[in-house]
Amino acid sequence: MRLEGKVALVTGSSQGIGQGIVVRLAQEGADVVINYRSHPEGAEETLAKVQATGGRCYMAQRSKSQGYTIQADLGNVNEIRQLIAESIAYFGKLDILVNNAGLEKHAPFWEVTEADYDAIMNVNLKGVFFTTQAFVQHLIATQRSGKIINISSVHEELSFPNFTAYCASKGGMKMLTRNLAVELGSFGITINNVAPGAIETPINIKLLNDPQKLSALLRNIPLGRLGQPQDVASLVAFLASSDAGYVTGSTFFVDGGLLWNYQEQ
Ligand code: NAD
Repeated sequence: MRLEGKVALVTGSSQGIGQGIVVRLAQEGADVVINYRSHPEGAEETLAKVQATGGRCYMAQRSKSQGYTIQADLGNVNEIRQLIAESIAYFGKLDILVNNAGLEKHAPFWEVTEADYDAIMNVNLKGVFFTTQAFVQHLIATQRSGKIINISSVHEELSFPNFTAYCASKGGMKMLTRNLAVELGSFGITINNVAPGAIETPINIKLLNDPQKLSALLRNIPLGRLGQPQDVASLVAFLASSDAGYVTGSTFFVDGGLLWNYQEQ
């Protein structure tokens, strides 16, 4: 129980990797805020999973539920600030922030629209920037340390034709993390990136339904399988814990070896 007594916010946690992270942090004893944009039923599913796992051990001793769901669009700074304030109002504090919400859109570079560029950047980079800022303001105001974990991608390093805005957002996240590790170190706040390879989630639905592309991708993965949300969540749990107390400013890849063996098909 590495996270007993800690409160975590996981953005975009109504499905996929975010949902896996919420469940794992709850299993480690944390109280968790589940954020969703447009799928309350997904957030409810995440909450039910939290209650099914952590609930057995902890719910009886707690006056409040171990999980709490909040609707907020992470592309909107006002909604971000409300999300942080509401999380603190409900659980009394925040200790851990996982910036997981993200999106990608396929298009050749010369066809990318301003609207699609803005949608990607607003959530993947601007949203991360201002969510982190609001979290850090809370930590500084309450004179407490904290942990920030950004869900980046192998594409903070690796090119991905037809996804240039996505790659730019994750590359920006890499430098955001390095810069904040330096700027926030004296407050005892750590920040790290977890960079998944190919994980079996709804974001990859087209790929999962294309047997030819899928088998070509699998040939590029030395461990021979797609990752699962739990593969990402276990590393997040470590980085959120005091076991990672001396770890900051780094990117950790969870990709089955993909990064060193990838060829675009
Ligand atoms: P997903 O599409 O299943 O989940 C993304 C989540 O982000 C969803 O819950 C969605 O509602 C949320 N989201 C999107 N826009 C939002 C907004 N404006 N406000 C609030 N929430 C919003 O995808 P996933 O695979 O679970 O992705 C999670 C993170 O992992 C993303 O940052 C993604 O870039 C990253 N990632 C995924 C993979 C992969 O192969 N699945 C690989 C590398 C990185």
